Amino acid sequence: MSQHPRIWFNGELVAYEDATIHVLSHVIHYGSSVFEGIRAYETDRGPAIFRLEEHMSRLIDSAKIHRMDVGYTVDELCDAVVETVGESGLEACYIRPISFRGHGPMGVNPLKNPVHTAIAVWEWGQYLGAEAIERGVEVQVSSWNRPAPNTLPAMAKAGGNYLGGSLIKMEAVLNGFSEGIALSVDGLLSEGSGENLFVIRDGEIATPPQTLSILPGITRDSVIQIARDRGYTVTERSLPREALYLADELFFTGTAAEVTPIRTVDHYEIGSGSRGPITEELQTAYFQSLRDTANPKGWLTFVNDHAGPSGDGAAGQPAVTS
Ligand code: PMP
Repeated sequence: MSQHPRIWFNGELVAYEDATIHVLSHVIHYGSSVFEGIRAYETDRGPAIFRLEEHMSRLIDSAKIHRMDVGYTVDELCDAVVETVGESGLEACYIRPISFRGHGPMGVNPLKNPVHTAIAVWEWGQYLGAEAIERGVEVQVSSWNRPAPNTLPAMAKAGGNYLGGSLIKMEAVLNGFSEGIALSVDGLLSEGSGENLFVIRDGEIATPPQTLSILPGITRDSVIQIARDRGYTVTERSLPREALYLADELFFTGTAAEVTPIRTVDHYEIGSGSRGPITEELQTAYFQSLRDTANPKGWLTFVNDHAGPSGDGAAGQPAVTS
């Protein structure tokens, strides 16, 4: 028996060992996948999936950009995620839906290759380390830029884009940092290898806009909403590299990284060199929203509302976010 939760593969839950593909699949050679990263959190009402519908809509958007027909609606994909999490028995997990080009004609043109979809779940702790959430991380500005707008579409969360992300991450880790911040092709602040970036100075919260080759992060959107609800001004605008060094506070956002303070960049100390007060306030409010069973913004999908303890009843039921 597998210790791993089962994987949803093209419409059915299969054993972990059986979710395999051919080595000549298009995705292996050309990076032709689109995917998501989602978290389910443990709550008093059982596992709650954070902003499920927004994540699955972004998957469909990513697929559309790459002319990929996933063959499932957003609702069907949401149901499949709920079923997979429900069947896993996990109270909290990371969720990885992925659609990719499979085995078919070899060559760059993917239009005749079949598209497959899989959803896997696993336990995953703090991405940048447990300490990072409180103490913050040390980062560098990467020597690698984000792709120019008319090269690889940054709005698509596509597998191939992460070759650039891996270069940023490897360089940072080998240099002794937790993460790298990439600049846009014009030298303006863009984002981390798997996180969006926020810069705070004199009480103003700023974050790079979509035109600077960022992935439109769902955590970024959540934090913007939370900050505005609390009366802060949040501006999406271009920022030069040195805005990092002069910031009072900096933090990353992402499904995996959640809200992670940055305490140094290129060995410059940011603010007082530890988590700043606005970062802490927004981080606390964000963490509350992940487990708030009153679900004021409708951000949570409660798995147990859709699947019984045995997992019965998950299939075919609408995964409404309430
Ligand atoms: N940018 C990149 C390149 C990412 O991979 C991620 C993680 N998906 C993010 C930003 C943050 O996005 P989200 O908050 O939706 O996880």
